[in-house]
Amino acid sequence: MIGEAEIEAVMSVLRSGWLTTGAKAREFEQAFAAALGDGIEAIAVNSATAGLHLAAEACGIGPGDEVLVPTLTFTATASVIRHLGADPVLVDVDRATRTIDLEHAARRLTPRCTAIIPVHFGGFPCDMAAVLDFARRHGLRVIEDAAHVMPGHRSGRAIGAWESDACVFSFYATKPITTGEGGMITTRNPVIAARARMMRSHGLDRDAFDRFRKVGTSWAYDVAAPGFKYNLTDLAAAIGIVQLGRSDDLRSGRQRAAERYLDQLSDLPLDCPAAAPSDSLHSWHLFPIRVHEDAPLTRDDVIAALAAQGIGTSVHYRPLHQMAYWRRYSTFAPDEFPESDRYFAGALSLPLFASMTDGDVDRVAGAVRKLLR
Ligand SMILES: *Cc1c(COP(=O)(O)O)cnc(C)c1O
Repeated sequence: MIGEAEIEAVMSVLRSGWLTTGAKAREFEQAFAAALGDGIEAIAVNSATAGLHLAAEACGIGPGDEVLVPTLTFTATASVIRHLGADPVLVDVDRATRTIDLEHAARRLTPRCTAIIPVHFGGFPCDMAAVLDFARRHGLRVIEDAAHVMPGHRSGRAIGAWESDACVFSFYATKPITTGEGGMITTRNPVIAARARMMRSHGLDRDAFDRFRKVGTSWAYDVAAPGFKYNLTDLAAAIGIVQLGRSDDLRSGRQRAAERYLDQLSDLPLDCPAAAPSDSLHSWHLFPIRVHEDAPLTRDDVIAALAAQGIGTSVHYRPLHQMAYWRRYSTFAPDEFPESDRYFAGALSLPLFASMTDGDVDRVAGAVRKLLR
């Protein structure tokens, strides 16, 4: 949701004359890191996909490596692994939380596995203590895909503030906070932070803003590696600073709507998303339900009937192992992912946004009740 404050922030950047990565991007990084806790570095990028690519590169993932990735995710989580010449190993999800199933991950593990990418699906915060323990026991790097989170906590600790190698947020238009397009990497590891910063700007040892500020040697830079072009503009960062300040309110608004859905849908032949444990904070990015096999209507019929009433829904996600490329590319048995297949067969995401009124929620929930009761 974009308000007048975001519009004003963009105008002031336009008037400043500095449009690309500069003081605003730094201010956004510092504010983002401060919002998560002490000892955290934040690196602003132009998408979460770019952030995942940089994080994986900084972790040294390359040809010959395998990386554990849940099959229930957006394709970018796995694509970046291919961009580095490594191979994703798809893993099923837990039935209740729809996050990576560590027991299945243990069975899919090979000697080539060097990393795991847990996804905080729909904003549900993964059990990070369990993920980090699993990674430690098997010598894996951990990169969190937090594209659905801001803010979120697990066991009293912010997502983005754990001891994983990196955590990556998305500011795409539909995400919990947005800059239109954008993303953020957070890490406690200074080596990863430095590598990601350098590879974000062509692999140069100094970025344009740094050169601009050092009068006299602004032409001087060296090339340390063949880097990428993944920096976030000051225009986007200015929006991000305002959105970050609103992120708690936006999340509370979504939680209020989600709790109202949970109240009204619990007696129907469908599964609602799991609430977070009491010591944790759900980001409530999505409200994905699963229509039961024995419900009076199929998922496709529910989507069509809601659309006919002007209620837009979506499906998050058709699992990667069912997609043409990943099906052809990955190795797995036909019954390798029973929970993801079971979820997807009945999955649809109901509208969920911070400005939903009780009346909005009641209208959607009422329509679903009428169809499925
Ligand atoms: C949106 C999304 C991404 C990619 O985010 P971008 O900022 O659009 O690159 C990655 N992973 C998940 C789970 C997402 O939902």
